[in-house]
Amino acid sequence: MPTTDTLVDSLSSLQRIDQVLQRGDPRAPCASFEGRHWTYGAFNALVDTAAQALAAAGLRAGDRLALLSTPRPEYLLLLMAASRIGAVYLGLNPRHTAAEIAQALRRARPRLVLTLRRFEGQEFLPLFHLAAAQQPAPPVCAFDDLDSCLVALGSLPTLPPAAPSTPDAALARTAAIVFTSGTTGQPKPAMLTHAGLLLAAAVQHLRLNPPAPARARLLCHLPINHVGCLMNLTLGALAGGGSVVFQQRFSAAHTLQLLVDEGINCWLQAPAMFHACVDHPDFNPRALSHLHSVCIGGGAPSARVIQALRSTGAGLFVEYGQTETCSSGAYSDPGASDEVLTHCVGRFDPHFDLRIAHPDGRTCADGEVGEIQARGALVFAGYFDDADATRAAFTPDGWLHTGDLAERRADGCILLRGRLKEMIKSGGYNVYPREVELVLEGHPAVGQVVVVGLPDDRYGEAVHAVLTLRAPATRRSDLLDCCRASLANYKVPKSFRVIDSFALLPNGKIDRVGTRAAASSLPALD
Ligand code: AMP
Repeated sequence: MPTTDTLVDSLSSLQRIDQVLQRGDPRAPCASFEGRHWTYGAFNALVDTAAQALAAAGLRAGDRLALLSTPRPEYLLLLMAASRIGAVYLGLNPRHTAAEIAQALRRARPRLVLTLRRFEGQEFLPLFHLAAAQQPAPPVCAFDDLDSCLVALGSLPTLPPAAPSTPDAALARTAAIVFTSGTTGQPKPAMLTHAGLLLAAAVQHLRLNPPAPARARLLCHLPINHVGCLMNLTLGALAGGGSVVFQQRFSAAHTLQLLVDEGINCWLQAPAMFHACVDHPDFNPRALSHLHSVCIGGGAPSARVIQALRSTGAGLFVEYGQTETCSSGAYSDPGASDEVLTHCVGRFDPHFDLRIAHPDGRTCADGEVGEIQARGALVFAGYFDDADATRAAFTPDGWLHTGDLAERRADGCILLRGRLKEMIKSGGYNVYPREVELVLEGHPAVGQVVVVGLPDDRYGEAVHAVLTLRAPATRRSDLLDCCRASLANYKVPKSFRVIDSFALLPNGKIDRVGTRAAASSLPALD
């Protein structure tokens, strides 16, 4: 296993993300999908073929290549082929509506679109026909599988000439455009650089670190338009010579089965997905004893999930980051306690430049709440064609505003307080939703919880909890007693709203904006 700095140094010397395939052992496993397997050598040759076909059709450096697909080998092929010719990859999610696709095409202006023809009965070409009604559309080519994708690439029409554009230095460094997930606002096209993705992937791989001679083997089952798929699952595995197994759509039963059947040794996904897996009747920790590491990213896990995952015997860690920082910037230490895993996001990795900043620009002292900010190679190159949003994303001296509030505890671990925009201002007090969620998650009758602020005549905003119940007979007074035992009065929710299950965003995270919008119409416990 390479030491930290060897892997980081050698990946940092690469120019493009596709070079991770050229570094891999040509005979080692690289990708698997539904019974087919490719070595690094075989996949690299396919990428060469695809890259030549794209270049022959007229795709140039800086042009965007859009792909609508589930996580399948065609995704890896086109991500890497775009990179090989300096083009920019743009993933589109099959769950998007025609209006969302039209919006993505309008903002990112790809020169060519490839799409999976159908999945689970849904046809995707009609989405593009509807989207095309709203704007001049790029050519769209459909494929059914890897073989037909290669055939489609080999017979691409010559692309219509691109509209003249001024050379864009940021785009020249960009490997992929990823629309921010819109957890808290409108999606924006973030330009993620080759350098940022390679650095983030090197660190991710070192954190996974299965003992040699094993190589990291990950299940790749997040949407192909999300940074978690690009960086954590795909490049995080391939950076150090590991492999990926594609799963087209997350389902707890199938995921649990693939972990066993495919010998997955590093399991990485969002907390809501872990919830679904550990609550599934097929969850059998003994069958998962081959797991080396389990990584929870993108949100905070509950104590119940951590305890269930502990029983597999795997090393557990949490990681924190966002699209604009190429995903992960902070990781918990190996062997971190349950308390740290549920409350904290670990420490900023020493390879990155992150800090917690006070609004006046200084770095916060321990115990002081401020905003997490980032700078350096990890940070994105800006929002494509949106100078105003890019300017607003940075401080005047170049630090990225993550919009996340946090404090560093005396033990050095970072306690995430929530999104700046999600902070509830109630009667002059600041309430951090996560603090209230943690208390309610500790109650045995409660499943998942989202705490939101709703308009209130008296307090401006008031704290409300939306939750799933594990014990239907639960009373409001049970939850009030639990909150009052650990929270100041102004933090105690004014109502407890019950929901059957939370709507998830395509990246597997709970839709907090939608939950807040629906909260007042949900039944309240009495
Ligand atoms: P996205 O850009 O869609 O990946 O969303 C990133 C946001 O998810 C971050 O800015 C955080 O607010 C949240 N997030 C990421 N990792 C964690 C974590 N480990 N715990 C809690 N929230 C997280």
